Amino acid sequence: MPAVETSFDVVILGGGSGGYACALRASQLGLTVGLVEKDKLGGTCLHRGCIPTKALLHAAEIADSVRESAQFGVNASLEGVDLKQVNSYKDGVVGRLYKGLQSLIKSRGITVIEGNGRMVGPHTVEVDGTHYEGKNVVLASGSITKSLPGLEIDGERVLSSWEAMQLDTVPERAIVLGGGVIGVEFASAWRSFGAEVTIIEALPRLVAAEDPASSKVLERAFRKRGIAFTTNTGFSGVERTESGVRVTVESGDTYDADVLLVAVGRGPNTADQGFEEQGVEMDRGFVLTDERLQTKLTGVYAVGDIVPGMQLAHRGFQQGIFVAEDIAGLNPTPLDEKGFPRVTYCEPEVASVGLSEDEAQTAYGDDSVESLAYDLGGNGKSQILKTQGFVKVVRRKDGPVLGVHLVGSRVGELIGEAQLIYNWDAFPEDVAALVHMHPTQNEALGEAHLALAGKPLHAHS
Ligand SMILES: Cc1cc2nc3c(=O)[nH]c(=O)nc-3n(C[C@H](O)[C@H](O)[C@H](O)COP(=O)(O)OP(=O)(O)OC[C@H]3O[C@@H](n4cnc5c(N)ncnc54)[C@H](O)[C@@H]3O)c2cc1C
Repeated sequence: MPAVETSFDVVILGGGSGGYACALRASQLGLTVGLVEKDKLGGTCLHRGCIPTKALLHAAEIADSVRESAQFGVNASLEGVDLKQVNSYKDGVVGRLYKGLQSLIKSRGITVIEGNGRMVGPHTVEVDGTHYEGKNVVLASGSITKSLPGLEIDGERVLSSWEAMQLDTVPERAIVLGGGVIGVEFASAWRSFGAEVTIIEALPRLVAAEDPASSKVLERAFRKRGIAFTTNTGFSGVERTESGVRVTVESGDTYDADVLLVAVGRGPNTADQGFEEQGVEMDRGFVLTDERLQTKLTGVYAVGDIVPGMQLAHRGFQQGIFVAEDIAGLNPTPLDEKGFPRVTYCEPEVASVGLSEDEAQTAYGDDSVESLAYDLGGNGKSQILKTQGFVKVVRRKDGPVLGVHLVGSRVGELIGEAQLIYNWDAFPEDVAALVHMHPTQNEALGEAHLALAGKPLHAHS
């Protein structure tokens, strides 16, 4: 039997988005990599997050298209939604991507160490009694569902996103606790599948991390779709009833449903991993790093959801690549978190990059910032799709674009260009000189920049 390889240039603890991206880039740069994973390569994003939920949302979009087909002169009727079949489609997508990822990791010569890892020295990770030494160690153990005091997720009636994405029948009535990204995505999909949905949110608006204008348009669209929601509403308790759950909120009002989805955020998965014992600085379970993502320990880095900030797969990818390049001595430029695009894939979609208008005003002063919202009503393709919403661009007066905010069906796809505009410090005048194809929703992005540059085309001056 060949001896077990136990010493590497880089040992990575966790094979999710952050960890595996780091492994791929490090191996590309000629470093030897040990990647420790206790479950499945691909982590939350591939198996329990981005991919399965977006497959559900795509099936939901199809249900809506069939239901609304007569509006387009196509007569079809929705006979029902078979969640077992939806799940098998969803699992098929995940399975194919998982297979692809495993073979990619193998082809790059990365050593996958299966099992639960624990830091037992500043540069040592133990897995099943074997010690793996890394000249560098990257912590990438990801996140887990959070709950509230006294709110126990039983997996039957009180669900986390993981159980929610495995339901094999559509609930007749569902309550979603939390109007953030995960909450509104499930609310949207379940509504499209035919459920009566109520969102309970403690903050004053849905998708509260977004520009207030985006929340307003989403709330209007949800009302139109029959998705009920209450904001400024604190959760008080939940009890099991004969047919489901009864949720009580702080005002004393109650809500009955078949299931309750707890979508109040995700916390770092760092308990009992030995990080603190080895001297890694932590704050409420998150790992603290400097701008080069290095912890207090030299040569020990952290990436992904365990690092305070937005919990997004592409943030994990980017951080993983950054750390690999830093270890290899390429001296990459530190990442601007505001430059990471965000998409909420409900119907309608909400997307943004850069600063909200309020953030821009705080950073540069009220008088130094201007914004423009281009209504999708003036966009041919959006009219064809029968979607409503806007493209809002925030700029520094006589300066670059500081933020782009979008709401509407399919607008998540537009954020790719918006992130180039923001990250390259483009002026609206620069963008106005570029051509946007007709008829596309992408044109609306061009129109917003034309208008901000003082030469509106399909917009009133
Ligand atoms: C329902 C849902 C939908 C989402 N949708 C999106 C989306 O559309 N777009 C988006 O950008 N983000 C989305 N996210 C967030 C995204 O999934 C996370 O930001 C991303 O997975 C974080 O990557 P990570 O590498 O930090 O952690 P993870 O993906 O959680 O990976 C951590 C890995 O480490 C392993 N691990 C942990 N501890 C140990 C240990 N001690 N030993 C060995 N292995 C260990 C775990 O098994 C896991 O595989 C969604 C999340 C959820 C829950």
